[in-house]
Amino acid sequence: MKICEKCHVQVRGSSVCPLCGSPLEGEPELPIYPKLSRKISGMGMLLRIMLMGTVSAGVICLAMNGMLPETGNWSWCVILGIASFWLCFFLLCRHRKRLPRLFTEQAFVLWLLCLFWDGITGWGGWSLEWMGPILFSAAQLTLFIVCPAKKIPPQEYVVCQCLNALMGIFPALLYLAGEIRFGVPALISASLGGITLLFIFLFDMTVLRRELSRRLHL
Ligand SMILES: [Zn+2]
Repeated sequence: MKICEKCHVQVRGSSVCPLCGSPLEGEPELPIYPKLSRKISGMGMLLRIMLMGTVSAGVICLAMNGMLPETGNWSWCVILGIASFWLCFFLLCRHRKRLPRLFTEQAFVLWLLCLFWDGITGWGGWSLEWMGPILFSAAQLTLFIVCPAKKIPPQEYVVCQCLNALMGIFPALLYLAGEIRFGVPALISASLGGITLLFIFLFDMTVLRRELSRRLHL
């Protein structure tokens, strides 16, 4: 710290004495705040590259579509595709530490996106026939494998597993109501959903009841 020879005071962060204005003597002190590092972590850099790449692709497609209007309004599909990707990615990052919730939410959001894409591309019914059963079966199987492997306690996954099972059964109801033509994926998914619900009923029913009453404030 610097010292004023006349006033005998120690002064920090100045080269002249605030009392008499004389130049200060002694060694300047080390800066009190740590130096900010501009280094970006590997993950942050990857995220920036992804953002840069997707936004540039969107802008280039919009510009190309603007120059070639006779090719139709296809650039909006690219923009919506990029938005769908970032929505899933954002949710993936938000719940990356709560795996049961992550898988359930991803299955549900991906299914909603499939419904949306099926709708805007002229409704082929594939979102109900194929994607619903595949996504919810995959979510159930993933929870069955990942939760015991990661030693996740039943109270953290039983509600998610139950929701996945119910969503897995839903396409079969649509098939029985005649809304779906090809029923094999829906029936497989419903069987899996039924087995999951039976498993929960036999082994985790107390936990499920407790979790539901806690979450719904019953
Ligand atoms: Zn002084």
